[in-house]
Amino acid sequence: MKLLVMGPPGAGKGSQSQKLIADYELTHISTGEMFRRSYERGEEIGKKAMAYINEGNLVDDDITNEIVRKRLLKPDAARCFLLDGYPRTVTQAEALDDMLKEMSSSLTAVINIVVDKDIILERMVGRRVCKSCGHTYHKTFKPPKVEGVCDQCGGTLYQRVDDQLESVRNRLKIYETKTKPIIDYYKGRGLLININGMQSFEAVYKDIQKALRGLR
Ligand code: ADP
Ligand code: ADP
Ligand code: ZN
Repeated sequence: MKLLVMGPPGAGKGSQSQKLIADYELTHISTGEMFRRSYERGEEIGKKAMAYINEGNLVDDDITNEIVRKRLLKPDAARCFLLDGYPRTVTQAEALDDMLKEMSSSLTAVINIVVDKDIILERMVGRRVCKSCGHTYHKTFKPPKVEGVCDQCGGTLYQRVDDQLESVRNRLKIYETKTKPIIDYYKGRGLLININGMQSFEAVYKDIQKALRGLR
């Protein structure tokens, strides 16, 4: 299965992806996570990307397409993958189409998680992320067993710089203008599955599973 998970920042893409990759045995490709890891490793590309990210802006299309292309060519992405947070612009969607064509591959479905703006803000400012493994928590909606400590790996939880209110507002604006048009792009190809993200984690996941039934 080759899936794409879309939605505004804070929709629950990462949270739902964590379950999907385990249950459907998919290779998780999150461009946001790849940029953060690259930055932590002290790489030039990570440093360049983080300058955009901390301001709440999108990373340059060429940089982003290049890291995705490299990742898709690795053997573990040949059969099954889940792209989380990519593409985010029409240019990226077109680049992805070209990459998949080159690989004689195609998408199975595009999951679009739909969430209202007020809920997004609440989710984003309460988000906490593990420094070591990237697992995501929420101060109120999904607290870790021990405050500030990752349940999965014991790592330290932190608040992303781009999850401060100012940056979140900017990201939402960018989502509306640059990312939303992709929804029509995939709708036109008959790939789009809309999922109501304004439910519990479990209910959202159940709806996704239902929508994926019969697909392979
Ligand atoms: P969220 O889960 O809140 O939507 P991500 O972790 O997916 O955030 O991404 C964090 C940031 O990384 C984005 O706000 C953006 O600056 C950058 N980024 C991630 N994916 C892309 C992409 N496909 N194109 C451009 N920038 C990206
Ligand atoms: P995205 O990857 O789309 O930016 P995340 O999966 O990181 O979104 O979720 C954003 C924040 O909202 C996280 O703190 C997460 O724990 C929380 N969250 C995600 N889905 C739900 C949900 N269905 N109900 C309540 N909180 C949620
Ligand atoms: Zn962890």
